[in-house]
Amino acid sequence: MKRALLALLILVLVVSFFAFDLGRFLTLESLKQSQHDFAALKAQSPWMVAAVGFALYVIVAALSLPGALIMTLAMGALFGLVMGTLLVSFASSIGATLAFLASRFVFRDTVQQRFGDKLKAINNGIAKDGALYLFTLRLIPVFPFFLVNLLMGLTPMRTRTFYWVSQVGMLAGTLVFVNAGTQLAQLQSLSGILSPGLLFSFLLLGVFPMIAKKITAWLQRRRVYAKWNSPAQFDRNLIVIGGGAGGLVSSYIASVVNAKVTLIEANKMGGDCLNYGCVPSKALIKSAKLAHQIRHADHYGLETNEAKFSFRKVMARVHEVIRTVAPHDSVERFTGLGVEVLQGYARITDPWTVEVKLNDGAIQVLTTRSIIIATGARPFVPPLPGLDEVGYVTSDTLWDEFVKLDTAPARLVVLGGGPIGCELAQSFARLGSHVTQIEKGSRIMVREDSEVSELARASLTADGVDVLIDHKAVRCEQEDGHKYIVVEQDGKSRRIEFDALLCAVGRVARLTGYGLEELGIETQRTVVTNDYLETIYPNIFAAGDVAGPYQFTHTAAHQGWYATVNALFGDFWKFKADYSVVPWSTFIDPEVARVGLNEQEAREQGIAYEVVKYGIDELDRAIADGTAYGFVKVLTVPGKDKILGVTIVGEHAGDLLVEFVLAMQHGLGLNKILGTIHIYPTLAEANKYAAGEWKRAHAPQKVLAWLKRYHTWKRG
Ligand SMILES: Cc1cc2nc3c(=O)[nH]c(=O)nc-3n(C[C@H](O)[C@H](O)[C@H](O)COP(=O)(O)OP(=O)(O)OC[C@H]3O[C@@H](n4cnc5c(N)ncnc54)[C@H](O)[C@@H]3O)c2cc1C
Repeated sequence: MKRALLALLILVLVVSFFAFDLGRFLTLESLKQSQHDFAALKAQSPWMVAAVGFALYVIVAALSLPGALIMTLAMGALFGLVMGTLLVSFASSIGATLAFLASRFVFRDTVQQRFGDKLKAINNGIAKDGALYLFTLRLIPVFPFFLVNLLMGLTPMRTRTFYWVSQVGMLAGTLVFVNAGTQLAQLQSLSGILSPGLLFSFLLLGVFPMIAKKITAWLQRRRVYAKWNSPAQFDRNLIVIGGGAGGLVSSYIASVVNAKVTLIEANKMGGDCLNYGCVPSKALIKSAKLAHQIRHADHYGLETNEAKFSFRKVMARVHEVIRTVAPHDSVERFTGLGVEVLQGYARITDPWTVEVKLNDGAIQVLTTRSIIIATGARPFVPPLPGLDEVGYVTSDTLWDEFVKLDTAPARLVVLGGGPIGCELAQSFARLGSHVTQIEKGSRIMVREDSEVSELARASLTADGVDVLIDHKAVRCEQEDGHKYIVVEQDGKSRRIEFDALLCAVGRVARLTGYGLEELGIETQRTVVTNDYLETIYPNIFAAGDVAGPYQFTHTAAHQGWYATVNALFGDFWKFKADYSVVPWSTFIDPEVARVGLNEQEAREQGIAYEVVKYGIDELDRAIADGTAYGFVKVLTVPGKDKILGVTIVGEHAGDLLVEFVLAMQHGLGLNKILGTIHIYPTLAEANKYAAGEWKRAHAPQKVLAWLKRYHTWKRG
């Protein structure tokens, strides 16, 4: 309401200006004619003329009316160079800031909500270098003054920044125009004030800060190398540290383009995903799901059976699966691809040198043009009193520890309600453990929408997991050979007895012990890189979990490509790592898969959206399969079929999501999905039906009403 009123007021004032042709007073001729009258008035009451002139200037600038230039000349003519410049400088900056604020108040929310995703790059640019951009625009008087005010109001630039940068940036132009005003009698036209030479000088001045910034960045980068002596020549083009997903893809790409590349892995080739993460967990999930299905065989008209199994064999199969996949990531395979693989611990000793302590104890020193750090992450173990004493497993150790057991731990505590905690809690519950899952937040899988968290919790609970939310683990205790974890909720504490405890409270990047500290490579939660995945040393890159912000195998591989291409070809062209469409899945049952925004993120980021939801309980194939649960939820730009994000909960959600990932990556909307033939009866039809829901909600009601009339008329 307030916005509408302000917009109306501004509109009335602007329309009145033109309706009453007030612009006729703001021309060079009119100014020249009235110059003597103004001068006489000023001689009588100089302060009053200054105040009125100042106020009028502010109004003209605030309402974005044409005439600020004439007023600048008038101020010069009346008050001379110094006073005139002072008056104009403040009046124009205040007026510009009022226009900026009005534009912000009336339009910014709408514009940001409607085009938020497209404006992301601009918003980021303004946040980073906004003052510089504005300064350039202000210095070069060819950019319309009023347009700069209005457009900047739509960005997240701070008002204070806008004001002072405007005032400083406009000073040179103001001086030129005020000075011209002091020579008003000789002035024949406005175009004469700015000669092409002067304009060019302004242009140079305007771009100077940008060039200066680039030079400073270049010098800074030179400075980081200053204390190191670069080798005269290099043994290799690229050294990759870490043989997980990020490192494997990096070294593979390098070998494909015939670069000389060395991959160094301290532990097992394949990294976390193959040995401790995706592969073993998915193998375990499969056995657990089968056991669950056998127990519920009556759903399919079969005799229900107690699922009989040997836990030891289940765990042995997990290791068998790792062994079967291992050749894909093996030393032999990568050597065959042309990668030199060294098994040992790498340490960066200078920006071009890596020292490797080989597994046989020998030391090898290698020089290289570029380095990719792909050292991954490790499980975070919370500083919980008594934890070390009672003992625990993490995703790193659980596979080797549990393979020794004949049965699943009778009472298992899972610390953490994230994806890994949820996947493992459900699996072990299905394999016979009584699982207590402890989460200190108010829901599990907190990155997902709350309805997804609720579904996940219901599903885990149905499998027998005792999901404790809002519970803080306080300490562990041991008494008469029994192990306990003490948890607190609402100030009340309780003890939970357990046989095994799994820590799954997150994973932290590996940042120490291999040279980052000595080289001064900045780290926060991860190695700090720029958009090109470069560290402060432009020849040292990071990819995968160690670089963040995601912790997935596919994002590690994705970054590996960017890091390698930038490392090998960055002298010619560099690519910014593109995270615009990143999908992921949590492999609980039912699966949860997502790409792009969900509702909670859209709300947090102030992005307007519409939602359509298709319930998989309606889907023929899902009904036939006995998996008629879950949904496909699609967020779209209001009034358009453009997809902002998709969440799927259901059987094979991760596989179903791919269609939306492709659509988002290539700018295809829901209409295109609806117009694509999907095989009947498949689960993938759910995607098409979700698109159909959107179409129904956006059916052209008026056209349909006319069609009804047409058909009625045709029937006679
Ligand atoms: C239980 C679990 C389940 C998971 N499930 C999935 C899933 O379903 N889907 C998915 O996408 N992601 C999953 N992940 C995450 C996935 O495993 C990681 O995101 C992925 O492994 C990251 O790859 P990376 O190359 O960055 O690091 P890593 O795979 O950790 O590889 C880094 C390697 O660097 C080596 N290294 C470290 N320092 C040195 C050094 N100084 N010298 C030499 N070598 C060194 C390490 O030994 C390690 O092998 C899961 C993780 C876990 C723990």
